[in-house]
Amino acid sequence: RKKDRNVAGLLRERLPKKLQALLKQAGELGQQTGHAVYVVGGFVRDLLLKHPNFDVDLVVEGDGVAYAAELARIYGGRYKSHPKFKTAVVILPDGQRVDVATARLEYYEYPAALPTVELSSIKMDLYRRDFTVNALALHLSPERFGDLVDFFGAQRDIKDRVLRVLHSLSFVEDPTRIVRAIRFSERFGFRIGGQTDRLIKNAVRHSFFHKLSGSRVMHELRLIFEEKTPLSCLRRMQDYKLLAAIHPLLALTPSKEAVLLEVENVINWYRLLYIEPQPQVWMLYFLGLCTGLDPEQFAIIARRLNFSKRQAAEMVALRQQIRDTAQGIFNWEYHKGPPSELYFLLEPMPLEGALYLMARNPREPLQKYVSLHLTTLRHKRVEVTGNDLKALGVEAGPRYADILRRVVGAAIDGLAVCRAEQLELARRLAKGEPVADFLARQPGGDR
Ligand code: ATP
Repeated sequence: RKKDRNVAGLLRERLPKKLQALLKQAGELGQQTGHAVYVVGGFVRDLLLKHPNFDVDLVVEGDGVAYAAELARIYGGRYKSHPKFKTAVVILPDGQRVDVATARLEYYEYPAALPTVELSSIKMDLYRRDFTVNALALHLSPERFGDLVDFFGAQRDIKDRVLRVLHSLSFVEDPTRIVRAIRFSERFGFRIGGQTDRLIKNAVRHSFFHKLSGSRVMHELRLIFEEKTPLSCLRRMQDYKLLAAIHPLLALTPSKEAVLLEVENVINWYRLLYIEPQPQVWMLYFLGLCTGLDPEQFAIIARRLNFSKRQAAEMVALRQQIRDTAQGIFNWEYHKGPPSELYFLLEPMPLEGALYLMARNPREPLQKYVSLHLTTLRHKRVEVTGNDLKALGVEAGPRYADILRRVVGAAIDGLAVCRAEQLELARRLAKGEPVADFLARQPGGDR
């Protein structure tokens, strides 16, 4: 057998020093305890592709949980184990996560799919994985540090830019791999291999997706929504009739596609504003995928995807809030309300809702108003504090909130711009004195 390729040089070139030291340490610990240790999966794939990826997945040919405990001890970190799966996650003091899995022969049940019986445990572990390019491992032991373990031709597939499953029962075992194939294919610009493509079509024809649990489908959908190009992934899913296979109501229609395209635009626009926090983008895409569904249909989808009662109720409420707010903004525009009214309409809305509202109304002035709120109005701060109100004899409570709200409103409308004016307004409100003449005195006060 020809000598394995060694990529220690690539590790030195591509990884932060700290991470290199961690991998060395991980290998030495394995040697001390007499177990081979490998780094596996996406980490190795991305190393060869020269994509930064610092998520370390280790596989130990031995007791992975005990190994993880020891690794945590050496670094003074924490660890959490799942004894049932013989896995653990170590969290180092600097926040670095290390996932540890156990490779053990007796742990797998693959009578039909197994080509040979004589497999090392690392080979068995890699054989369970989704695609050849994800089934690479790297030796970490000191004498073989950086040796590539490639049983399935992954290096060639990376070179040819192709995704291939490891065996023909792969999608029977786990249909979510179909969605993963599309996701990786779009992310890396890899094509899906011919045989793998036929297996996908076969899996869809035989409705493998029907028996798949909602939580697993939703998990994979969320991963899609968090990719750089979710819409192109969704289009590919549509081409394979996968969305309809999850549920007919999820099929991509032209109008959904138009909304999802705007969702993508709005997310990119917002990203470039660099305002923290950023939205949960999956939620926007999910709302887009559910465009046009009435509440009963939405409930069916929420059930299919196994949303908890609370999650489903929150989504239903958000959809309603989006609709009501859009109506509110149309009314506000019609009667030419002041900016503060727009602020109070949008202020209770989660960021995701506001952005979705923009995506749903790309060519309406409404989009401009929501963007005004997000970029400007909502960042307005008043200079009157709780202590000021306390000094005026107003304690925390509904009256307190009401006064503050009116000061904020006046500030946004340019009717109380400096601290002195805001304080005077608060004082009048606190004492129950009339404020109309005060507000009318201000430069913007003749609206
Ligand atoms: P990402 O960059 O999206 O995190 P990743 O390859 O690290 O990519 P994970 O979902 O974190 O993806 O999975 C880690 C590894 O576990 C994969 O590289 C793959 O080998 C394996 N794996 C994950 N999900 C499956 C699955 N459904 N079937 C088989 N193997 C899987």
